[in-house]
Amino acid sequence: MYYIRMNAYAKINIGLDVINRRDDGYHNVSMIMQSVNLYDNLTISKNSSNKIIVRTNLPYLPTDKKNLVYSAAHLFKEVTGIKSGLLITLKKRIPVAAGLAGGSTDAAATLMGLNKLFNAGMTKDELSKLGVKLGADVPYCLMMGTALSEGIGDKLSPLPPMPKCHILLVKPNINVSTKFVYENLKLDDSTIHPNISLMQKAIESQNLLELTKHMGNLLETVTINHYPIINNIKDKMVELGAMTSLMSGSGPTVFGIFNNYKTAKDAFQYFRTSYQKYQVFLTKPYYPINHN
Ligand code: ATP
Repeated sequence: MYYIRMNAYAKINIGLDVINRRDDGYHNVSMIMQSVNLYDNLTISKNSSNKIIVRTNLPYLPTDKKNLVYSAAHLFKEVTGIKSGLLITLKKRIPVAAGLAGGSTDAAATLMGLNKLFNAGMTKDELSKLGVKLGADVPYCLMMGTALSEGIGDKLSPLPPMPKCHILLVKPNINVSTKFVYENLKLDDSTIHPNISLMQKAIESQNLLELTKHMGNLLETVTINHYPIINNIKDKMVELGAMTSLMSGSGPTVFGIFNNYKTAKDAFQYFRTSYQKYQVFLTKPYYPINHN
């Protein structure tokens, strides 16, 4: 085998709670993650040089070690001792710096792809230990599907697949810094936390209505104050028939959950035509079968 093609799936946080701030500055979180059927394409091919070359369709993305695809490949070669040169072509569809884990999922797909291409035989656990060195979301991106993420995002437990639905993603053309969001997060006795365990129960009983009632993202308390556009998008989605709408991660992407395809499609068309500078996608949860 000389080359391999991989899809790298985006994620949304259908629930995001922050428990506390630790002395080292990190935050303990409790999040429910869900992969969605929006993905980047990676093609990884071997060549006779000793170099890693990354090409991408987005001219503003770095192609050196600042690209997570490059650093994942570099780390993989270092750990396995594989000398072969690599050409990695990355076609980005996932919006960049959007709260959709675009870079992390590319890193995860690179690790999985290289493991297959070179028959390196690394286990999921071994890949995960490598992945966490590249970013806190990488182990989840290796696992995919519906999962509970705790600790600083490093403790992962698979959950039953979330109920089927349609998901509208809207990324406004603003930049939100994750660092800024966490630094401005205020946690005190009056903070209203989303109830992640009720969400888990709703997933176990496959009750989409109950699940959407409990969805919440604590980081919205910061972003909505600074970027009211996020709230406007959320309100509009609900007005257009979403069961609920929420910001993903530290934003700025907003997603809406729909149980009816026609309603979701109409809402998609509305955002596509009214906000041409926004990135708008109509997608669904992605449930991996067996992606070894
Ligand atoms: P998260 O949801 O994990 O916070 P994000 O979706 O907000 O991530 P990314 O799309 O991963 O953010 O991009 C964050 C930064 O990482 C960008 O500014 C970009 O320059 C850099 N980056 C490095 N490699 C990649 C990659 N393969 N794809 C996208 N961004 C990358």
